[in-house]
Amino acid sequence: MPVEMEKIVSLCKRRGIIFQNSEIYGGLGSTWDYGPLGVELKRNVKDLWWRSVVRERDDMEGLDAAILMHPTTWVASGHVESFTDPLVDCKKCKKRFRADDLEGESCPECNGELTEMRRFNLMFKTFMGPVEDEGAIVYLRPETAQGIFANFSNIQKAMRRKLPFGIAQIGKAFRNEITPGNFTFRTREFEQMEIEYFVKPGTDQEWYDYWVRERFDWYIKWGIKPENLRLREHGKDELAHYAKSCHDVEYLFPMGWSELEGIANRTDFDLRQHEKYSGRDLHYFDEVTKEQYIPYVIEPSAGADRATLAFLVDAYREEKVKGEKRVILSLHREMAPIKVAVLPLLRNRPEIVEMARRIAGDLRGHFKTVYDDTGSIGRLYRRQDEIGTPYCITVDVQSLTDKKVTVRDRDSMEQDRIPIERLREYLLGKLIQ
Ligand code: ATP
Repeated sequence: MPVEMEKIVSLCKRRGIIFQNSEIYGGLGSTWDYGPLGVELKRNVKDLWWRSVVRERDDMEGLDAAILMHPTTWVASGHVESFTDPLVDCKKCKKRFRADDLEGESCPECNGELTEMRRFNLMFKTFMGPVEDEGAIVYLRPETAQGIFANFSNIQKAMRRKLPFGIAQIGKAFRNEITPGNFTFRTREFEQMEIEYFVKPGTDQEWYDYWVRERFDWYIKWGIKPENLRLREHGKDELAHYAKSCHDVEYLFPMGWSELEGIANRTDFDLRQHEKYSGRDLHYFDEVTKEQYIPYVIEPSAGADRATLAFLVDAYREEKVKGEKRVILSLHREMAPIKVAVLPLLRNRPEIVEMARRIAGDLRGHFKTVYDDTGSIGRLYRRQDEIGTPYCITVDVQSLTDKKVTVRDRDSMEQDRIPIERLREYLLGKLIQ
């Protein structure tokens, strides 16, 4: 059974992981701010994604495109016309629903009568420049993908790329969701981690299968328990009009199995549309076969916020130790926001404090390290367990003479006595995969 979402929300607030946005004004619906530990955690999620899909591969390039794009982009992509959700209101309790989420004909909350279904475009509009007229409308991008398609030719030529190759991007996206909720699972402002992988038509199925496996395995590698992850193939009736096939990677969130990432075979739809609307030639010239064609595209599209939430939920554990409750985030070591905490056993002994501070200072350049002396050692351990710190180093009276410290492992709670001069090497071996 997954942990209840309230426990995660409360831990996130208490420990500076995620706060409600604009809380002092009563909050702004479904917007969240990542606090000091949350920003580290989410950055680790993004860095580990970037590392495995860009840095460690020779067939990928990175991109950081602007959020605002030429408005014709969204006509070409189909978003202006059809990026809509079906909306119904309850005439009695005034609650609003996505028609495709409802099972019956009446309001699921109060059984009241529902209005006719209306189509509601999910794109946020704003104005560019000082005049707020039709001609100045621009959109906050609802997905990062189109920035990649619009730069396909630039990147292919500048980097002298041959197919197959991919472009990866991490960035904010905005959707005026009708029913946001479940903490950071569905928000109106969120971050995507998207890949467009360009291949020769005819080889698309094999690359599609490859990316479905690759992306599924990534979550397992970085700590999600296999029993909490599954693949779900979209039925023909569910597929977007441009997609040949699509698999969702689903995670067992507290509210049930839900999408974490989608991997789609988008065919040549997007590049063809951009060619049509921009008038630019977006064909690829294959120098070996002397053929010209528009590449097919496999798109693994993930959410950084959803992934962060899944890693948090999956890592949360409660256990009893000597009759007391112990809360642990057993995050993968490389995912943990803080890697090492240095704790003096006695905070009123200046030599111990000084030694602990010096050790923390030395390690800080290598691992995210904190020094904490604001409680008893038992309490300090508890605090670090709760935020997933894999190693706590304790400096005690004996350390002053034998120049050794105790290193405690978060999960096993086992303790090793390590010479201070070997600490960095010891931790490197444990923390870096
Ligand atoms: P859903 O069916 O949940 O609305 P979607 O199929 O519309 O999602 P995609 O367009 O495939 O989502 O977006 C790719 C990824 O971006 C999703 O798998 C998810 O991780 C993330 N994402 C999409 N919408 C949101 C949102 N409102 N809040 C947070 N993350 C989101």
